[in-house]
Amino acid sequence: MRDGLPNPEQLISEIATARATTIADYMAAANGHYYATRDPLGAAGDFTTAPEISQMFGEMVGVWIADLWSRAGSPAFRYVELGPGRGTLAADALRVMARFGCTPAGIDLVETSPTLRAAQLARIPNAEHHDEIDALPDDAPLIIVANEFFDALPIHQYVRTIDGWRERMVERQGGALAPVANDTPADDAVPAVLRDKPEGTIVETAPVAAAIMQRCAFRLARQGGAMLAIDYGYGGPAAGDTLQAVKAHRFVDPFANPGEVDLTAHVDFTALAASARSAAVPASPLTTQGDWLQRLGVDARLQSLAAAAPARADELKGQRDRLVEPREMGDLFKVMAFTAPGWPAPAGFTGDTA
Ligand code: SAH
Repeated sequence: MRDGLPNPEQLISEIATARATTIADYMAAANGHYYATRDPLGAAGDFTTAPEISQMFGEMVGVWIADLWSRAGSPAFRYVELGPGRGTLAADALRVMARFGCTPAGIDLVETSPTLRAAQLARIPNAEHHDEIDALPDDAPLIIVANEFFDALPIHQYVRTIDGWRERMVERQGGALAPVANDTPADDAVPAVLRDKPEGTIVETAPVAAAIMQRCAFRLARQGGAMLAIDYGYGGPAAGDTLQAVKAHRFVDPFANPGEVDLTAHVDFTALAASARSAAVPASPLTTQGDWLQRLGVDARLQSLAAAAPARADELKGQRDRLVEPREMGDLFKVMAFTAPGWPAPAGFTGDTA
């Protein structure tokens, strides 16, 4: 455990003593502790992500990068990943990119967890770590990948009460933590198109995600390059409570055991696109993970992997289905790309509407 991090009991009492703890502060404190103290991924952990399900996922990201890079004139660039987990996606993508002669001048990983930093270095020994976007080198175009990164960032929640919109806070009630409506009016925090929703409606905002997206976009505008964001999410604005907690592959109460469960919220991709546009970086249409993977050629990749290992054909087909099929991850997960002015249009988004 990293020095100075509170244990779960201390976290609960910190949250309880600060009367006005927003959902965002609660999420930031809980997730900071959670990610710093474990590797949460895989069957033995709390949740599994697309790159941990199949090598085909990272390989399609690699194909996407190699294609874009080649159409951009094969410039020197840096591979950047935000919240790279175990480094599995990066390893699979970089291996495929190398086959196209697409070798980055540097591999820069933005990661706060010391545990996951160690796991990433074991997979990619020549990677450099950074605490934040602002610390990334500025000597070359950046190709930035973020899979299941934005969903871990803190959100604010607002609830419509009989007296109007209020921010939702976390408060100790007896021995447990529970969400309560703040006293101060917060109508201005809620997008105008959602303000007339009925009593009880919850609306979320994600200013940290917006700020990180804008910083990435400023870099793309200045240095060139592109960014690929993949996450479970939607095209907003939309109402709804999407805060969820997962422990050992099961949904649990987000207000029990802070720091010991994975807290996430669905990503509003329309809000990310607006952040990018504010830095003069255009966003692609929003597409589903299933459609995007199929357009990048996941089915051809499945065939060649299965032909090389016939005994694994069923297992490989099962992995492909988990990533692509609408009833699995295919529809819930979305993909959006952001490209620097002057860079070519990214592959995989044709046919979608903005
Ligand atoms: N992209 C990986 C891991 C997703 S889990 C995969 O697809 O398997 C979320 C990742 O984001 C973890 O690596 C976690 O440590 C990292 N993370 C969470 N909050 C972060 C923050 N504020 N800054 C940097 N990394 C963060």
